[in-house]
Order: sequence, then structure tokens, then C-alpha cells
Amino acid sequence: MAVPGSDEKLPDLPVDWDEIEHEATDLLQTYLRIDTTNPPGGEEAGAQFLAEVLRRDGFEPTFYDAGNDRVSLSARLPGTNTSGSLPLVLLSHIDVVPVERDYWSVDPYAGTLRDGVLWGRGALDMKGMAVMELLAFALLKRHRVPLQRDLLFLAVADEEAASKSGMSWLAKHHPELLRADAVINEGAFGFGELMGHRGLIFGVSTSEKAPLWLRLTATGRPGHGSIPHGQNAAVRLIEALARVAAVEQTATLCPETRLTLETLKREGLFPADLDVTDPEVLQGLASASDLVRALVCNSVSLTSIGGGSKINVIPAKTEATLDCRLLPGQDVDTFLGDLRAVIDDEHVEISVVHQDVPLVSQIRSDILEHVEATIRHETAGGVVMPMISPGFTDSRIYRAHGVPSIGYTPVLLTTEEAGGVHGHDERISTANLRLGTQLLLDTVRRAAGVP
Ligand SMILES: [Zn+2]
Repeated sequence: MAVPGSDEKLPDLPVDWDEIEHEATDLLQTYLRIDTTNPPGGEEAGAQFLAEVLRRDGFEPTFYDAGNDRVSLSARLPGTNTSGSLPLVLLSHIDVVPVERDYWSVDPYAGTLRDGVLWGRGALDMKGMAVMELLAFALLKRHRVPLQRDLLFLAVADEEAASKSGMSWLAKHHPELLRADAVINEGAFGFGELMGHRGLIFGVSTSEKAPLWLRLTATGRPGHGSIPHGQNAAVRLIEALARVAAVEQTATLCPETRLTLETLKREGLFPADLDVTDPEVLQGLASASDLVRALVCNSVSLTSIGGGSKINVIPAKTEATLDCRLLPGQDVDTFLGDLRAVIDDEHVEISVVHQDVPLVSQIRSDILEHVEATIRHETAGGVVMPMISPGFTDSRIYRAHGVPSIGYTPVLLTTEEAGGVHGHDERISTANLRLGTQLLLDTVRRAAGVP
């Protein structure tokens, strides 16, 4: 008989998947209508909604209040045969990023359902995934699936603004939540179409780039706009920024990215004889594709620029912010030293606004093997593509505590749909809600079910 943990197809649970697709759609529609835009967050309303849903299934949720409506919540499904093992965590965040309303085709908070697609801020990042996790969690209870470890559903505040009132606050005040065997979180999607190629490619992130957020401050001599001089702070800043923007970052092949590129090669996105270990080839791939460049290079994005008070006054000070992302294993001081050398101007200061330590990753883990078994048995020819997530997630906090944490939203998107994450017209099909719930349920049964 097939058992969880083995590499065989698991016996089907008697789930009415049409009904679950409806339930997922209703839940997500309501969740999308709760505005948890961060800032300010206001996650309490989202947490209350999740708690109400969990209570319907007989769970007793626990709230964690960091103040100012910054509320996280958890619920536990106890294992029947835990024998000292640590829980598997299904992690999500309640907050969403702001919208630029003028660019949306629909009201981003209306939960519009049109032709089998649900539109709204958070549909992908990550209220949709939270609903899939919630239903996988509830289905295990409804069908009395015996577990060998506890399952912890954890929905947290403040992920989108660097986790201060969310995961970082929880790590400090409720460190018991970090005692886990593995974490399933956001960080990578599956693609039914990628760079124009069709296939079933399920991204799984095992590491991510670390944010290094910088402020550049240029100083100079103030003066009257009618008498230009050579010490204008605004000119110093734009010259420094132009030098930074002109730098081509060196492509570096991390072990994960090698697996990513090898997968894309096998899937026919790159020629079969392409040698990705050749630095020149790699640099060429990076300059040809934004996606590949994000996976193999540190990055620097100019995100704001400002200063000056009046059109006829030369400012004494101007500022810009840089969002830099470092590959796993990179040294922050070396990166900053290189940046200083490129700027090469004593009147332009660099200060660190926020920094996370770039982690060396942990590619192989039991949880990744369970994902691989799921994709092998539950999809028609799907492949798993291990990768580094270019963005950062709350997984970094678990990984820093040695807990394997994977980014795994098992839905099949088009490149255009994936652009909705932090972008415009974010949306998810109800078919993807169903698929994601099915695949998560199978993965969790393999990882936590009784063998
Ligand atoms: Zn997210």
C-alpha cells in the first residue's frame, strides 16, 4: 500500500473538488475585500476573518497582537503520533502591498469574479496561497487523516514592510513558533507558460536574495539658481547614480541557479548544449533576460530621488534610495566597498536603511523531496524547478534558525499573470485555487502523514 513518505501515489481522499473550488473561491473573495494594505497593515481584520473560518472547522486559533492592529494568528492540527517531532508550518502573510488604482481594470478590493478568474490585490501575494493552505489544513481534519507531526497554520502581519511587526516580532516574543521541522511558504510559482514556452514547471525556492536598502545623500554648496557653481548637490547625486547605473553586475552561478538553468535547458527554453558554467555564457544569458539576470546577479534598483525646495534655489542636500538585492553567500561589506569605489565622490554618503544577512542556502531537504513526489504523481509530466527567489520572504527568518523553508505556491501561471505580483491587475483563476489546494494537500500528507 502507498504510504506518506514513500515515493508512490497516495490513495485519494474522498474530497468533492468541485465543492472545494467553490469554497476556495468564496473564501478568497471575502479575504480580498478586507483591505490589509501595508502601510498601515491593519491585519487584525484579516486575522479575525481567518479565525472565523478556522472556528467553523473546530480549530481554536491563537492571536498574537503586536499593537496598532498588527495581529498574527496560528492554529494547530495535532498529530496523533508525534513522538517528539516538530511541526510542519503552513505560513502566509495577511498584509498586501499598496495599489496604483489608475492602472487597474477593476476595483482591487472588490473581489471581482469574472470568467473563472478572481481579481484583487493579494490574489497571488499571498491571500490566494493562504486560502489553499487553510483548505489543505481543514481537509486533513475533516477527513481525519492521522498525522505523525503537528501542523501549524500561521498567518502573520507585516511581511511586506520587512516583518518588524510580524515574523520578526513573533521570533522575539513567541520563539516557540520557530521550533519547526519545515515550512511551506510563498517564494515561487509554477508556470504553464514561461518565456513563451509551454510546460508544467513548478518553481520551488530554497533560498532567496537578501535585501540591502541604501540611502545616498549628496551634499554641496547652496546658492541662487541664477549663479551656477560646481558644487551642486543635485548634480553630484545624479552623476553618482549614473555611475552606479552603468555598472554591469557580474553573473555568479549559485548551486540552486545551476539547477534552475539546467531545468530550463531540459524543458527546451535554452539550447541543450548550452554550458551554463561558462562565465561568458552566463553573462550573456543575464544580459538577454531580466529573469535570468535577477537569478545570477546582485542587483541595484534606483527607487527614489529627491531634494531641493524651490526652482530658483540650488539645494545643499539631495537624497536617493537604492534597493539592492544580494545573492546567497555574498559579503555585504565587499558589495558596499565596490559601490563606494564606483561612486568615487566624498560628497556622496551611503547609509544602510535595512539589511538582511544573505544566507547560504540549503538545497536538499525532506520537504523538497515530498514536493518532488507530489509533482511526479499528481501532475501529468510536471517538473520541479529549484530556484532562488529574487524577492525576500518571511522564510529568511526560519532559515536563519536552521529550519528548511520552501517557497512553493503550486499553481500554473502565465508570465503575464505572474506580473500581477506587486503589479497591476493581480488575479488568480479558480482552477488554480483548486490545483494549488490539491497539490499542497498531497505534499502535506507526504510530509506529515503517518507512514
Ligand atoms: Zn508575499
